[in-house]
Amino acid sequence: MDQSITFTEKDQLKAKPESVQLGFGKYFTDYMFEMDYSLEKGWHDPRIAPYAPVALDPAAMIFHYGQEVFEGLKAYRAKDGRILLFRPEKNMKRMNQSCARLNIPKIDGKFVIKAIKKLVAIEKDWVPTEPGQSLYIRPFIIGTEPFLGVHPSGSYKLLVICSPVGSYFGRNTKPVKIYVEDEFVRAVKGGVGFAKTSGNYAASLRAQTKAEELGFDQVLWLDGVEHKYIEEVGSMNIFFKVDGEVWTPELDGSILPGITRDSVLELLKKWGVPVKEKKISVKKLFKKAEKQKLEEVFGTGTAAVISPVGFLKWEDRVVKVANGETGKLSKKLYETLTGIQNGTIKDDMGWTQEVVAASTSDAAAEPAGTPDVVSEAAVTE
Ligand SMILES: *Cc1c(COP(=O)(O)O)cnc(C)c1O
Repeated sequence: MDQSITFTEKDQLKAKPESVQLGFGKYFTDYMFEMDYSLEKGWHDPRIAPYAPVALDPAAMIFHYGQEVFEGLKAYRAKDGRILLFRPEKNMKRMNQSCARLNIPKIDGKFVIKAIKKLVAIEKDWVPTEPGQSLYIRPFIIGTEPFLGVHPSGSYKLLVICSPVGSYFGRNTKPVKIYVEDEFVRAVKGGVGFAKTSGNYAASLRAQTKAEELGFDQVLWLDGVEHKYIEEVGSMNIFFKVDGEVWTPELDGSILPGITRDSVLELLKKWGVPVKEKKISVKKLFKKAEKQKLEEVFGTGTAAVISPVGFLKWEDRVVKVANGETGKLSKKLYETLTGIQNGTIKDDMGWTQEVVAASTSDAAAEPAGTPDVVSEAAVTE
């Protein structure tokens, strides 16, 4: 791919929200990245333009058959002013795996990372500065062909939008209460469970509402065939510390291969904590819990990083974990991961990539005063 990313500047930038108001995914930055795909041209016309509504034909296939994939990653601001991305090549690899499953043409991951870096550099003032805050980056691809026949769309749009987000953790975050969902399932092997695609979320909403109606924060999903084995929690991967050992469900096709999950596994191995990726039956887990062997439970995902679980319910059995508090290992993982992400801990895993250099020099941004029509940072692939 040999294309320049054009940049259309807007006259008036938006007012930025107060840092206490951030929450998750409520505010969007001034610009977005956009690129189109057609059968004739492939991916083309990469551009950064003012954030704006997308006009689509009402027959566009995304509205009818849900052909979509997405990703989620964050840009973090270090104390010295650097802006860092965390393992973005993993997001691109997974996006292509999702594309392959959803019959969407592949993207050039390296090119999209360049585009993301350019976008983040332009939006650098939107990267929040308070601890735990970050700029959430949401790349996604939709099928845009106006056609009601069921077939793969002939045209697509890739967009990247950015949202400054607050911290999930820290500010009076209580470990979450979850219950084992044994009616609805999220995914089955052979389906799209391993892909980051909107349909998985649509399919999960009813169970999430039910969980909230019952006074819980999230659901613990079981496998779709036997309803016996634990898969994920809400839209996070799940870990259990049992009798000194850490367990997480093995990736078997219906589980989303989380990048936070992978990072937690790598850290635990580095620390010499015994870890097992395996099938985990809910029955066995509750037995362990009832024998006081279940020491910690936590979910992992880019949004919350580590989300400790304090209560578990399955049928009429209830278990309190780590006394309803955040466990030691959960805390250490959270602090290490966020420390690497925001540059306070030395990144000896090689997980971070600099988007903007320390203090005032902008590694990937346009030099001040450069006309912003066509970037000199054209990417050749
Ligand atoms: C995105 C996602 C995760 C977490 O993946 P990360 O790469 O760690 O953010 C877990 N489960 C589901 C269903 C997801 O969509």
